[in-house]
Amino acid sequence: VTSSAGAGSARRDPFSIAGTAVPAGTRKKFEIPIANLMSGTPVSLPILVLHGREPGPTLWMTAAIHGDELCGVEIIRRVLDAVRPETMSGTIVAVPIVNVHGFNTGSRYLPDRRDLNRSFPGSLRGSLASRIAKLLMTEVIELCDVGIDFHTGSDQRENLPQIRADLDDPKTAALARVFAPPVAIHSRVRDGSLRQAATDVGSTVLLFEGGEALRFSESAIRAGATGALRVLNHLGMFKGTFPPTSPVLISRSSSWIRATRSGILHLDSDLGDHVAAGDTIATIHDPFGQRLGVVTTRRPGLVIGSTHSPLVNRGDAIVHIADIASD
Ligand SMILES: [Zn+2]
Repeated sequence: VTSSAGAGSARRDPFSIAGTAVPAGTRKKFEIPIANLMSGTPVSLPILVLHGREPGPTLWMTAAIHGDELCGVEIIRRVLDAVRPETMSGTIVAVPIVNVHGFNTGSRYLPDRRDLNRSFPGSLRGSLASRIAKLLMTEVIELCDVGIDFHTGSDQRENLPQIRADLDDPKTAALARVFAPPVAIHSRVRDGSLRQAATDVGSTVLLFEGGEALRFSESAIRAGATGALRVLNHLGMFKGTFPPTSPVLISRSSSWIRATRSGILHLDSDLGDHVAAGDTIATIHDPFGQRLGVVTTRRPGLVIGSTHSPLVNRGDAIVHIADIASD
């Protein structure tokens, strides 16, 4: 796909993707047809390629694989706004809205309630989710070396900006540190996700989590866009200057703390708080203000996720706490 620029004389070859050729030093927007809506209207996957003038890695960015997770769409927009194909090396393939159906209806899932991020690597003879997964794999992911998949919390839960990745893989762990989120969480899953399928075909993959569904969270968007640009800078694809970062906290396990009673929830903790064992993180009241219960932590850790729902049933997940490894 790539060829040497030949000491600035011969131009780099165009980038071929889904039957489209993108000349070196240009950006090109195009669409890959998915399927028709029931009304007959065609639905397609919007893609933007930035093919740098100089050779370098090929990096994909995806968002809204869960159709209601919008922060990543804005993160990708900001990254693409900062990078010029005339001055960059390598190639960026951006798919800001993978789940087009869910994006248009404000849904996490596809119309048949399937989770696209559990449908990889997919099959062209499978469900709609399975076919979209397969299309993304063959037309985009398999052409690339590195990828970042952007997510947010779901079900009224907000996430602290964080990277989830296989931190036992040295290349992945190095990129997670370059991204410089407040915390990187080790996770290695066999779950039919894009991250798993892309790793299986040789991509080095970071999964970013930050913000909440159906909202723009400025702090998460800023962390995601800056982190992605740091990765591009580290890979030699883009030249940027960044303020120094504090060391990335590393977590190898996390757990949700659940409501001890049903009622009205008052949170006593914020995203990013460091909590100690026994700290009160929430109180639950009845409608007249009588305190029904106090929710406390069992272990120390970092608050990486939190519900925004003021109403809880006993057993509902309230606060997500990561154990911080001391390394
Ligand atoms: Zn998601």
